[in-house]
Amino acid sequence: MVENIQDNSFDIPDDLLDNIQQNIEHIIRTFDVPEENKLEVIKQINFMYSRTKYLSMTDELTKLPNRRNFDTDFNKEFLRAQRYKNPLTLVMFDIDFFKNVNDTYGHQCGDYVLKEVSKAALQTFRKTDTVYRTGGEEFCVILTETNIEQAIIPLERFRKTVETLNLIYNNKEVHVTVSIGACEYFPEIKNTEDFISKADEALYEAKNTGRNRTVFAK
Ligand code: GH3
Ligand code: MG
Ligand code: MG
Repeated sequence: MVENIQDNSFDIPDDLLDNIQQNIEHIIRTFDVPEENKLEVIKQINFMYSRTKYLSMTDELTKLPNRRNFDTDFNKEFLRAQRYKNPLTLVMFDIDFFKNVNDTYGHQCGDYVLKEVSKAALQTFRKTDTVYRTGGEEFCVILTETNIEQAIIPLERFRKTVETLNLIYNNKEVHVTVSIGACEYFPEIKNTEDFISKADEALYEAKNTGRNRTVFAK
């Protein structure tokens, strides 16, 4: 699980991107770009910059925010929960026996399944809950203002939605399920790594106790 996470994003830290933009703007202002073109050049650079930033934070296949985006957001939400005691639940889910999907129906079908499961997740959770693709067939959801009791219903709904998804690829029905691990913030959790480990352990337990299940960390 956590050790399998692959980072699909290309690795430019945010502050470096901001720096690059400032440097380019500085160069254009300082050097010999004709006055009437300056604004247009800056506009174009800003466009390239925004596009680069978007790509660096988005998973290409599913268009979900990626692992880097997750790290940034989760840090923020963690600090908020710690400081203001807002309820916060971290969810991890992983498609069961996904390797079999690739092996049986091909990698393209695997990609299709990833997209459909992502869509199902986006439709199930609230707009304020963000779904991230954090690895190959692994996802995280940050449920803000949500404790574990409030998480049970949407998580079970999501699990059942995936179980009953009507996926058809090249005229063949494809069935998948997900295993889900979730953990609510409590004050003994001292940092995001601990928090992620707890959710990951819950996911691991869901895998080891039969899959297609939701397990809540104690
Ligand atoms: P488990 O129920 O224990 O999670 O089993 P699993 O088969 O899902 O797990 P395993 O880690 O053995 O295999 C994950 C597979 O996910 C292997 C890898 O090829 C596939 N995978 C990862 N990223 C992608 C992707 O972007 N597209 C496709 N099609 N497959 C992917
Ligand atoms: Mg996995
Ligand atoms: Mg899997």
